[in-house]
Amino acid sequence: MNVLIIGSGAREHALAWAVARSSKVSTVLVAPGNGGTATMGGKVRNVAIKATDIDALLDLVAKESIGLTVVGPEQPLEVGIVNRFRDAGLKIVGPTAEAAQLETSKVFAKDFMKRHGIPTAGYEVFRDHASAKSYLEACGSFPQVIKASGLCAGKGVVVAMTREEALEAIHDFFESRVFGDAADEVVIEAFLTGQEASVFALTDGENYQLFLAAQDHKRIGEGDTGKNTGGMGAYAPAPLVTPEVMRRVEEEVIKPTLAGMKADGYAYTGFLYVGLMIDNGEPSVVEYNVRLGDPETQVVLPMLKSDLFDALLASVEGGLEAVPFEMQSGAAATVVMASKGYPDGYETGKAISIDPSVNDMDGVLVFHAGTRQDGDVLVTSGGRVLSVTASGASLKEALDQAYRGVAAINFEGAVYRRDIGAKAL
Ligand code: ATP
Repeated sequence: MNVLIIGSGAREHALAWAVARSSKVSTVLVAPGNGGTATMGGKVRNVAIKATDIDALLDLVAKESIGLTVVGPEQPLEVGIVNRFRDAGLKIVGPTAEAAQLETSKVFAKDFMKRHGIPTAGYEVFRDHASAKSYLEACGSFPQVIKASGLCAGKGVVVAMTREEALEAIHDFFESRVFGDAADEVVIEAFLTGQEASVFALTDGENYQLFLAAQDHKRIGEGDTGKNTGGMGAYAPAPLVTPEVMRRVEEEVIKPTLAGMKADGYAYTGFLYVGLMIDNGEPSVVEYNVRLGDPETQVVLPMLKSDLFDALLASVEGGLEAVPFEMQSGAAATVVMASKGYPDGYETGKAISIDPSVNDMDGVLVFHAGTRQDGDVLVTSGGRVLSVTASGASLKEALDQAYRGVAAINFEGAVYRRDIGAKAL
């Protein structure tokens, strides 16, 4: 079968790598892809179509006899790519626009969790500045967490340590309109303590399969300091998610989420990402994402021993419970290399040199994000440039090997954290 993967990050490079391993897959197209998917060779090639250009993607699927499409990022899901493909009788992995509201509307997600008894922080919803302001002025305790309801590329959340910070945030949201319509509705929620981990499921609407739990590193600086980013590294499995915690997440979060969505008339299919705060073994949902996370994908996919393509197809056709879904032993880690200046302004067009020794390093995989082939030269084209992944018998081995990979790669101004996974060791 021919498979189309939509997106251009390291997550999509990892998806292309995993899908291409299946003997049942003949061609993998990536739209628009990046410098890494452009040079994978073999079954994989890029097509220059934007992830949200649904008409052009529908034409491509017809022209290239694509049997299955997999959506990486959230934007095409928000604008209903799954609805359009299904209406055209095509197979696509992901939720409909209605079901995608679990991510695209934090108000939808919070109300959903409340209605179905899924553990999450207490909250209030505001639709104007004045009422949010009076709520915060009367609020007895800080921190409070202020969230724009819509998609803001991970930047629409302010953990306000003081009343002043909270008031500034709602001013930015409602008056300065820094996020435009995405902050027409604002959630103010209680601050949760504990440690964060992410759990990923693939579901056909009824049945689900779980990947290993992972931990991300959101901040740019070592020791979790500095600005928030798309993610600077990850590892799996997350020791914090013990078998008992995972059992609770399944019973208290995954199962009621799938049953609740079905009961509400929005049967959920595709990847489901649950961002959790775990406090003394008690899980609470911080957020849902309706797709795989980046950089977590770069560690959870290499840990899957079974054929990902079989599972993806079953998530569309049903019967996912019968598909093998086994994990490798050991651990995987990924270190993100970013452009100087990221997550603020950064320069692009820097030549990237990857020493060929990387190809001989056991378990090392270099997934590209902001890279582009410029003639014969691979150059930087984004904030997060590469995600250097390795698997090993232990987390320590995986991390050592990933950093060996990083040491063999160079571009001017490359920035990466040297403490990925340090807390887990
Ligand atoms: P992304 O999609 O990039 O993960 P987002 O904009 O959807 O981010 P959230 O995941 O809801 O936002 O929040 C971002 C971060 O803020 C969380 O990863 C967590 O560290 C912190 N956070 C959010 N809600 C809470 C809360 N109630 N208590 C404590 N910290 C929180």
